[in-house]
Amino acid sequence: MEILISGASVAGPALAYWLTRHGHRVTVVERAGALREGGYKVDIRGAAVDVIQKMGLLDQVRAASTDMRMARFVNGDGKQVATMDAELFGGRSSGDIEIMRGDLARLLHEITEDDVEYVFGDSITSLTEDADKVRVTFEQAPARAFDLVVGADGLHSNVRALAFGPEERYVHHLGHYISIFSVPNHRGLDREEMMHAAPGRTAGMYATRQMTEAKALFMFSSPELAYDRRDVERQRDLLAEAYRDQRWDVPRLLAEMGDAPDFYFDAISQVRMDRWTTGRIALVGDAACCPSPASGQGTSVSLVGAYVLAGEIPGVLAGERSGVLADETPGQGPFFGAYEEIMRPFAEANQKLAAGNLKGMVLRSRGQIRFQMFMLRLLPRLPGKDAMIRRVSEGIHRAATAIGLKDY
Ligand SMILES: Cc1cc2nc3c(=O)[nH]c(=O)nc-3n(C[C@H](O)[C@H](O)[C@H](O)COP(=O)(O)OP(=O)(O)OC[C@H]3O[C@@H](n4cnc5c(N)ncnc54)[C@H](O)[C@@H]3O)c2cc1C
Repeated sequence: MEILISGASVAGPALAYWLTRHGHRVTVVERAGALREGGYKVDIRGAAVDVIQKMGLLDQVRAASTDMRMARFVNGDGKQVATMDAELFGGRSSGDIEIMRGDLARLLHEITEDDVEYVFGDSITSLTEDADKVRVTFEQAPARAFDLVVGADGLHSNVRALAFGPEERYVHHLGHYISIFSVPNHRGLDREEMMHAAPGRTAGMYATRQMTEAKALFMFSSPELAYDRRDVERQRDLLAEAYRDQRWDVPRLLAEMGDAPDFYFDAISQVRMDRWTTGRIALVGDAACCPSPASGQGTSVSLVGAYVLAGEIPGVLAGERSGVLADETPGQGPFFGAYEEIMRPFAEANQKLAAGNLKGMVLRSRGQIRFQMFMLRLLPRLPGKDAMIRRVSEGIHRAATAIGLKDY
């Protein structure tokens, strides 16, 4: 089949890899003018590690991992009040890998670029489905027809808006905002992060082993804010307003945000939909079921979703001959097999992580902050600390492995 994918970050290239392995011809259209290399730390855990291994990428992904050592918690004067091992801070179990999103996207692009047609700097403008094709128009390229179209274009998916309706129906604000951007590494951080918590406002800074610069990170609680997603100046103002009068390095980091070429600001949100497929069009990754950055599982859900979706798409000719397409499972489209049925419990288990994680990431009161710092200082001295530490990552590990991967 000829299959069009929108989005070349994690889910898109991973899906392209598996579709070409299954014998399909794939085109990926990406709105950005080139592969977006920047980003932030993301985790590959549980079943997603198995997917990476099946792709033959495990050694390269491990070699590109962030190699973080520790997190330091500082008070308003910059004084260290507690530390935490990096693996524990990231909630990682043995075998899980932390990598910069851009490095992962580059590796996925590298192993697909010879077999996949990548079109950068373009975007789909309309999708019209008829009996045997989806007719697609683009902002730049001439119109084309494809057998299937998949939206792997993230939280604010274009394909979702075109095929399923406006995002207001599906994107749920979790009561927090996140901002991240590059700053000079003025603290000389070496594979470590610094975190400063104030009530309702967390600020931090980290540098991985690959970085010459550092990343500034902000997470704050807030009801929904009104702004235009293309108006970066307004987003900078909203961030500055939220962190007015904050201490530690916050004023300096905010002063540097105007120079950052990769300023990112968004609501921490989840995508919840009853269906991820309609006729010949499907969604995968954040576009379908974004669990939010607070879950720490968006990347893993994307990798696993890509693997399952590609495996579940029956060959059209083989399907027609064997009657697979005629014999449609009730409630499911004929083109995407049991994709939704297999992925939904896994996606939902990972979405459930976000609410609990957020409570620990953005603390509500000074009392909570004092208690968390006290516990972090006490932990290394407690008998049975290993079991307690294991329990922290156990919930994430359970969700990350809550799927059995078929051998397609
Ligand atoms: C600040 C932050 C921190 C995060 N931390 C973690 C973490 O610790 N652990 C973790 O697992 N995950 C984390 N995530 C989530 C993770 O990055 C995503 O879940 C994951 O990247 C999803 O991959 P995706 O390919 O579905 O979507 P995305 O990575 O969002 O990629 C979508 C792609 O589609 C492109 N696109 C958008 N619109 C169009 C269009 N109209 N036409 C064509 N292309 C388009 C975009 O340019 C982009 O390349 C974090 C996310 C953020 C924002």
